Amino acid sequence: MIQIQQLKMKIPHSEEELKEKVVKILRIPPKDLLSLTIKRRSLDARKKPELRYVYTVEAEVRREEEVTFRKEQKAQISFLDPSPGYQLPKSGDAPMKSRPVIAGSGPAGLFCGYLLAQQGYRPIILERGEDVDARIKTVDLFWETGKLDRESNVQFGEGGAGTFSDGKLNTSVKDKSGRGRNVLEIFTGHGAPKEILYDNKPHIGTDVLSHVVKQMRQKILSWGGEVWFSAKLTGIRTEKTWQEGRTSPVLTAVEIQHTKTGKQEMLETDTLVLAVGHSARDTFEMLQEEGIVMEAKSFAVGVRVEHPQNLIDHAQYGREAGDYLPAADYKLTAQTEKGRGVYTFCMCPGGYVVNASSEENRLAVNGMSYHKRDGQNANSAVIVTVSPKDFGEESNPLAGMAFQRKLEERAFALAEGKIPVQRFEDFCNNHSSEEGGHFLPQTKGQYRWRNVREIFPKELAEALEEGIRRFDKKLPGFAEKDAVLSAVESRTSSPVRIPRDVDLQSSTRGIYPCGEGAGFAGGIMSAAMDGMKVAEAIIKNKAPAGERP
Ligand code: FAD
Repeated sequence: MIQIQQLKMKIPHSEEELKEKVVKILRIPPKDLLSLTIKRRSLDARKKPELRYVYTVEAEVRREEEVTFRKEQKAQISFLDPSPGYQLPKSGDAPMKSRPVIAGSGPAGLFCGYLLAQQGYRPIILERGEDVDARIKTVDLFWETGKLDRESNVQFGEGGAGTFSDGKLNTSVKDKSGRGRNVLEIFTGHGAPKEILYDNKPHIGTDVLSHVVKQMRQKILSWGGEVWFSAKLTGIRTEKTWQEGRTSPVLTAVEIQHTKTGKQEMLETDTLVLAVGHSARDTFEMLQEEGIVMEAKSFAVGVRVEHPQNLIDHAQYGREAGDYLPAADYKLTAQTEKGRGVYTFCMCPGGYVVNASSEENRLAVNGMSYHKRDGQNANSAVIVTVSPKDFGEESNPLAGMAFQRKLEERAFALAEGKIPVQRFEDFCNNHSSEEGGHFLPQTKGQYRWRNVREIFPKELAEALEEGIRRFDKKLPGFAEKDAVLSAVESRTSSPVRIPRDVDLQSSTRGIYPCGEGAGFAGGIMSAAMDGMKVAEAIIKNKAPAGERP
């Protein structure tokens, strides 16, 4: 296999033109190119408005040993040994007494369940929310009327928090194990576009993602797994056992509440994957009562900011995106004079600000876009890190959660349950906006013009204002007076960590904290990869409980 890097192509170009370029670089006749795989594609915007795609490709050619290249091409061309790709561990010997239970069908729980089901472990996935089709209807109704379903909403339900998202699939997690690649391959195997396998900023969009999670569920069912919707983990039962020279609590059963009927049941199991996400506050409270060790952790809070998408396109590309370029994005960071880090997060080109609340009388916002990213506005979170020192009660593991709740209550009260929005100029002057400027917010859920600044403690509001002004130096127009701020962006990551041992189990044996809610991931990709990691730990530890049907 021959790898070629730094292969630059004009925009647009055809697949044929790419092949012609490869053949030319390798100095081989076209018929000797047996296959060509794109491994990576990124956009080079350094010479605006002339943009180029930069590729890394792998070519399979006839008589590879005869291919030669010039000295100056050494950095660009290399010969590769085929990679073994992602490898699952061998199953352990200890028999699993019962079927593994996974709480949560977000990326962490879904990928954990997918691997376990594929390997014959027949997992039972509990999901407090609805299946994705019913969930979409419930969420649409919430956005239209404000009627919140506490169990099935933007945070809860099939596919987890990311179902109503931009579906960005990049991660900063190093991928030596090949898990990340495997996640993308599983996504493409269930309906995601193949570009996600090589784009350096892969993105699916909420419309495609909801289809993909449904397809993955069907596969899990076909392998003998089960997915129980409107089924919430509400308790755990443990017993003390003597292990490794001390008594430790060991899981024996889980308590489940069927949220549509109110029916409770106990299910015996010695394996529970806790993949409940960052918003399962009642579940964190239950776990604290049950004595599961948890720690408060830092996260970030702030506002969501909107600009017209063409302002961002011009700043990043030096021109309109047009038909052949994706809507432009950005990632900005700044340090305030007082030393606070302010940064943009979860940027959604051509997207919508969504009312992402999951508790009564509390309001949180987030961002979402469709696959085409063709909305009029760009939005992203502008957030400031807050640590246990900001929460007030440093010793309480759930203090960060209480801090989030306080901000969300203020946001809810400020605009009577609608999304409070404000022009940036009015935010700086600390008075309510009366109306929008030269463009309007693009939201899912109703909004009202208010003084968003009132939601935040003084120091955080100052940091947000200073951060946005500093971003303007990097992306001109960012601090324009009509930029729209909405709040509160409070669900950026989990407020707790549930520590786990080297074998990925918590202080209570048999419980595997997993994904973002447990503090081991941030975003769809890393949550899915953590789900795979936990599945591997279970597979290594135990043999499947039952025969594959
Ligand atoms: P979650 O996805 O939160 O899943 C947890 C699941 O557990 C939920 O379905 C919940 O209903 C269920 N659950 C909770 N408690 C219980 C219980 N007691 N019993 C049973 N089930 C329970 N990330 C990106 O990488 N790219 C993006 O573009 C992006 N955009 C986003 C947009 C929005 C609007 C939101 C809300 C998030 C976005 N994120 C994005 C973040 C991403 O969704 C999360 O990082 C990711 O989903 C975390 O995965 P998880 O499986 O750990 O948890």
